[in-house]
Amino acid sequence: MALTESILAILHDLLPSQRPLGLHEPELGSSEKALVTDCLDSGWVSSVGQYVDRFEQELTAYTGIPHATATINGTAALHTCLVLANVTAGDEVLLPSLTFVGSANPVIYQNAIPHFTDCETETLGIDPQRLADYLQDITELRAGTCYNRHTDRPIRALMVVHVLGHPARMNELAEIAQHYRLTLIEDAAESLGSWRDDRHTGSWGHLAALSFNGNKIITSGGGGAVLTSDPELARQAKHITTTAKQSHPWALEHDATGYNYRLPNLNAALGCAQLAQLPKRLMQKRDLARQYAEAFVELTDVQLQTEPANCRSNHWLNLLLLPNAQERDRLLTAAHAAKILLRPFWTPLHQLPMFADAPHMSLPQTEALFARGVCLPSSAQLAKVAT
Ligand SMILES: *Cc1c(COP(=O)(O)O)cnc(C)c1O
Repeated sequence: MALTESILAILHDLLPSQRPLGLHEPELGSSEKALVTDCLDSGWVSSVGQYVDRFEQELTAYTGIPHATATINGTAALHTCLVLANVTAGDEVLLPSLTFVGSANPVIYQNAIPHFTDCETETLGIDPQRLADYLQDITELRAGTCYNRHTDRPIRALMVVHVLGHPARMNELAEIAQHYRLTLIEDAAESLGSWRDDRHTGSWGHLAALSFNGNKIITSGGGGAVLTSDPELARQAKHITTTAKQSHPWALEHDATGYNYRLPNLNAALGCAQLAQLPKRLMQKRDLARQYAEAFVELTDVQLQTEPANCRSNHWLNLLLLPNAQERDRLLTAAHAAKILLRPFWTPLHQLPMFADAPHMSLPQTEALFARGVCLPSSAQLAKVAT
């Protein structure tokens, strides 16, 4: 049997018969309905209310990261992180090319310049060894600030992304950030419930961002959060996401240009109900990843991405690596014809028109993963219940 047909046969066998079958679908039940209804009944549906506070407290309790500020989406959370990292016009921000465009867009919102780095195959995140060699080659420290010698611009921050939920090599990357005096930001939009060395993703960075978009492991409809262990950064995050309004019984005074980025209470109610499902969801997704691994073990022409060493991954999306781009496209075409809506990786950001002039290192592993990768349907409810 040709490779495409073998893969499709495995998918047909493993997955429920529902078609079309998307990559990641939300699961909403009676507890979601109860909390959203309670929120409606309270009348507090907008940017103030008990569910926003409760959602933030539950996020800090779950992740062990001391402060959380809920935002309107993950992109706004990342934008807030960049503002608080003092990323301003003309600064460079290091980030992977193999990520969702939402990682890089907020860099542009600050009139800063994304500088793309290559990834590695075990974690799918930034390759620390290549990054260290590259920075040693192209940078110099001037009065405590890291400069790109080729562009003469300061490199202000390093944004690490936990791609598809797999924790990046944070110990090495945090060391590099410290050595080069870069503010470390973690884009943990895909990695709620993912841990390295028993530390939740997002806990190495000065700042980190979560997303609760509809396709993430849990959803608040739309939503995000800024995480930090620094109380002063947390205070500023809250302040600038709520229009930089000063606390006062009646006066409407603002002391900076702020943003209307606060998560509405209505969305936070949904988020609270979903967060309660997370432990169960994680077990189901671990089970689904195991079922995929068992199903594909005989098919030696393809590889299923596995959990990195010393990590517990949330297995947000399961990744299958094909031999080459031709086989990838053959599979995508045939699967879509069968209404199984597989997806390739995001087109690497350095290949998109708006980032065509952005600096980058050579990106062989990014390009190889993009050429070979296909994401499989990964909703938690797809895990077959053991009989
Ligand atoms: C989803 C996502 C974002 C953006 O989150 P939104 O809530 O959709 O704005 C940013 N980065 C990554 C890696 C993501 O997957």
